[in-house]
Amino acid sequence: MNEEHTPRIVATSRTPRTIARARAMCWLFLFLVMPVFFTSAYAEHTWRVVILPGADPTQPAAQEQILAIRSSIAAAAPDGVEFYTDPLDDLRFDTAELMPSFLALMKRKYEHKQVDVVVGLGDFALDFTKRYHDEIWPDVPVVISSVSDTRQKDIPPGFAYVPVHVDLDGTLALAEALQPNARRLVVVSGAAKSDLVLAQRTADLARAGQYRHRAVDVWSGLTVPELQQRLAALDRDTAVLYTTMYRDRNGRTFFPYEVIAPMAMSSGAPIYGWYPTYLGHGLAAGSVINFEDNGRITGALASSILLGTAPRQGATASGSTSHCVADVGVLAKLGLQAAVLPEGCQLIDEPPSLWREHQGIVLIAVAVVLLQALTIAALLWQRRHRQIAEDQAALRLAELARATRFALAGELSASIAHEVGQPLGAILSNADTAGIILKDEPEVSELHSILADIRRDALRANQVVQRLRALLQKHTPTLDPLDLNSAFDDALSLLGLEARRRRIVIESHQVAEDAHVLGDRVQLQQVLLNLAINAMDAMEDTLPANRILSVSTRAAGQGYELIVADRGHGIPAAAVARLFDSLYTTKPHGMGLGLSIVRTIVVAHGGHVSAAAREGGGSLFTVWLPSMPGRAVLRARPELDKRAEMAAFDARPTTQGGHP
Ligand code: ADP
Repeated sequence: MNEEHTPRIVATSRTPRTIARARAMCWLFLFLVMPVFFTSAYAEHTWRVVILPGADPTQPAAQEQILAIRSSIAAAAPDGVEFYTDPLDDLRFDTAELMPSFLALMKRKYEHKQVDVVVGLGDFALDFTKRYHDEIWPDVPVVISSVSDTRQKDIPPGFAYVPVHVDLDGTLALAEALQPNARRLVVVSGAAKSDLVLAQRTADLARAGQYRHRAVDVWSGLTVPELQQRLAALDRDTAVLYTTMYRDRNGRTFFPYEVIAPMAMSSGAPIYGWYPTYLGHGLAAGSVINFEDNGRITGALASSILLGTAPRQGATASGSTSHCVADVGVLAKLGLQAAVLPEGCQLIDEPPSLWREHQGIVLIAVAVVLLQALTIAALLWQRRHRQIAEDQAALRLAELARATRFALAGELSASIAHEVGQPLGAILSNADTAGIILKDEPEVSELHSILADIRRDALRANQVVQRLRALLQKHTPTLDPLDLNSAFDDALSLLGLEARRRRIVIESHQVAEDAHVLGDRVQLQQVLLNLAINAMDAMEDTLPANRILSVSTRAAGQGYELIVADRGHGIPAAAVARLFDSLYTTKPHGMGLGLSIVRTIVVAHGGHVSAAAREGGGSLFTVWLPSMPGRAVLRARPELDKRAEMAAFDARPTTQGGHP
């Protein structure tokens, strides 16, 4: 036995230590494992939430509130939520009569369903849960919201509560600010029990508070047409406060927001209220409840209770606050000033402002426009400067061209002097002859003939002087309609004697009849003179028989060509490219400006000039000028054209100008 007991004794003798160790192991196990167990057990539990809306849950404010409750609880639930929504529309139905049936339904529904929290919204939910909560959902926490202030005292201490404050004072203060001279307040409501209670309470509070010095009337239960009729008779001396209309006196039911639009349509007085769902339907202003905010707070309180961070019994949370909102469209229609509203008051239905609606796009557009404007300004500035530079260049060119014309005149001075001297000499000798005749018996007819000669010679001398003056006078180049042939004829007549002096024949061919261009007469004459003098210079060493300067005009494309051909020393192939460069010259006393001026003038006239070696020796310069806009290019008869071509290239046909 002893032996038998020994072990037990031994065992007994080790028992206290073993037990202590076992206990310690147990605690350790509990300490380590239980949280895991609880956590997993907890995590596996899906919350079941019953929502009892007092009103139709599809009513906009209720909908907003319920959605916020749901999303707030769903966000906090570790393992999901099942929501059960059981509305009993007590605002439009007689709930007392329906209650037994509703209770039976609820009991049956939740008989086998473990619910974690019940959220009741409104007076009906408070009454119902207060009476039947233990029967349907024993020991389940209840959160109540949206009950009227007067019912607050009825909330059992065990229920959690989120107040919803109706800011009547704030709303009446807005009416006061917008209509300081209004003498009357009309409270409008429906005929449902809740409508009447709310309207009466509102009127009492208005009489006791903000509007105590004014008349406060209550219009309850009117039908919409009746209401419209009465509202139409009001003006801005009255403020209308619309509470709710769930039912009119004929039993027709509404969602309260549905009534405000027809009211506002007829009313001569602004309508105030505190339900956000009235905004946009005609409400002028109000300190409105934020139902979404309330839903979030209610959902958060329910979640806290379920998570154990708030007591299961009697928890509270501060409710949502109201805020000032005004419809500027409605105010403007009624002639009320939004400027008097308190600072920070939210304004809706402002006239659409591009800036407010598309700020980003507007900023980008403004930046783009500014950039464009800057670019345009820079371009205009650049263009202006280029224009100034071009004007100055044109002026310099004109001055230079004039200077070279002076040089040309200097070169031609001997011939010109001769050209003028010749008729003057003739005049003189004619005058002498006339004198002699007058000493004897004068023959009148002879005297007439002498005077005619004098006149002709004087005109000839005068013409030379006029042409020279025209060439040398200072003038601003302008583009005027002119006939190329006549301009070139005048220029060539200045060269006649110089050509004779150099024993050069000038052959002139005007194949293009009526060659009209837009140009500067003096400048175009200078083109011909420069080319002709160069041609004469080139023929200095040419045998006198071959010294022929051929000048012709002809139609070419949409313009006219001036061809100046000579039988001079010609142009070396290497020099062709540099010929028109400024300061390029091969003459001992040359300036190298003649051809460069020719090219500048021709280009300024929209034409072009080229030089080529002439077949059979000599050079050929071709200037092309566009015809005058809107004027057809007149071509000579083909056989004449052919002759002109031959004249230009073979220097054969009719000759004009002096002979050596
Ligand atoms: P410049 O007559 O003062 O030399 P230009 O610019 O009028 O200046 O002429 C430049 C050069 O072109 C002349 O020096 C000459 O070498 C060449 N040139 C011009 N016209 C002819 C021509 N008809 N035949 C041959 N060479 C010419």
